[in-house]
Amino acid sequence: MLQNQKSVDAYKEAVDLMPGGVNSPVRAFKSVGMNPIFMDHGKGSKIYDIDGNEYIDYVLSWGPLILGHAHEGVVQKLKEVAEKGTSFGAPTLLENELAQLVIDRVPSIEMVRMVNSGTEATMSALRLARGYTGRNIILKFEGNYHGHGDSLLIKAGSGVATLGLPDSPGVPESVAKHTITVPYNDIESLKYAFNEFGKDIAAVIVEPVSGNMGVVPPKGDFLQELRKITTENGSLLIFDEVMTGFRVGFHCAQGYFGVTPDLTCLGKVIGGGLPVGAYGGKRDIMESVAPVGDIYQAGTLSGNPLAMTAGLETLKALDKDAYKAINQKVDRLVTGYKEAAEKYKLNLQINRAGSMVGVFFADQQVVDYATSSRSDLDQFASYYRTMAEEGIFLPPSQFEGLFLSTAHTDEDIEKTIQAAEKAFSKL
Ligand code: PMP
Repeated sequence: MLQNQKSVDAYKEAVDLMPGGVNSPVRAFKSVGMNPIFMDHGKGSKIYDIDGNEYIDYVLSWGPLILGHAHEGVVQKLKEVAEKGTSFGAPTLLENELAQLVIDRVPSIEMVRMVNSGTEATMSALRLARGYTGRNIILKFEGNYHGHGDSLLIKAGSGVATLGLPDSPGVPESVAKHTITVPYNDIESLKYAFNEFGKDIAAVIVEPVSGNMGVVPPKGDFLQELRKITTENGSLLIFDEVMTGFRVGFHCAQGYFGVTPDLTCLGKVIGGGLPVGAYGGKRDIMESVAPVGDIYQAGTLSGNPLAMTAGLETLKALDKDAYKAINQKVDRLVTGYKEAAEKYKLNLQINRAGSMVGVFFADQQVVDYATSSRSDLDQFASYYRTMAEEGIFLPPSQFEGLFLSTAHTDEDIEKTIQAAEKAFSKL
């Protein structure tokens, strides 16, 4: 049994202070039947809770910490920059530097605007797409998550293509009706939606590798078809690379798959663990944004020196060899999991893109939201609890992927595989 009385006590206090005791719902550990584990500190691949338990961390703050926790170079620079002041409300050279780096690395980005979160990036990109095209409808995919902006918090409809219904009270139907949802990896539904609504579709927004229904990579030429159909219909293609950006590869998912969207949303890794988002794309589209153009978007703390610094130091440390090294660790982890599943005759599906890994307790290949939803959640919860007891910290939901960092060691991976074997033996 996990000894975590201090976390249990802290949670009791927290539920009176914050809704569900947390500042973001998925941290509540509800779907795995546990109390939240309160963290104290982290170093490299390890995190330590307030009871003193050590874990190998595969959450990595839900993706940003690709160099691991408290990376020395990042922390040192942050200290230096903080000494000089944390925000000015006026431009700094750090903003130029990070913008240049993003433009150099991301094929679709000729100009970029920094914001403070992934949600802000996608909300701003949608406004830009609507303002630029003069159209209202947004097409998104079932099971793709793009933050909690009203237009994107829309329930996936069943069947072929449906006009959206709000996923959450508080999202007006008058907003939701402008969002169309179709199944991921389903070109026929996409074509159907474009036949019906094509001339009114401002943009298609997509996670080029979906990471919010577990990890589901694009099938066949799905992304290429998306590029083709949006171009033919005068709609913009937006890649939401908040999760995949600088994680799936050196040139993000768009470089990895060789498909260039019109706009790209970034977050997570470009902030190196501080609050950052960004959206960027073709120059003529980006120049529609204020103060050059009339599409308004702003931010008091956007581009602040600390966030820029964490992003810069993180991206500078990520050369092509770094990705190669992480990917080798992922190879071993995936092989180990597969062997362990075979040993215990377990129905396990593993999807993977770069250092994003989806482990599904399912008996058929997971290619979309419907197949992901068929996973055995009881098996996942049991596996999850054993892993936590064995000192492995995983995202507490079947519908989230796990991440690796440059700080994970071969020893970490072997320990994780052994823990998974133990967890599987109990299922
Ligand atoms: N887009 C994607 C693909 C995401 O995974 C997330 C967050 N998990 C977001 C957008 C929203 O980002 P944030 O939580 O920083 O607002």
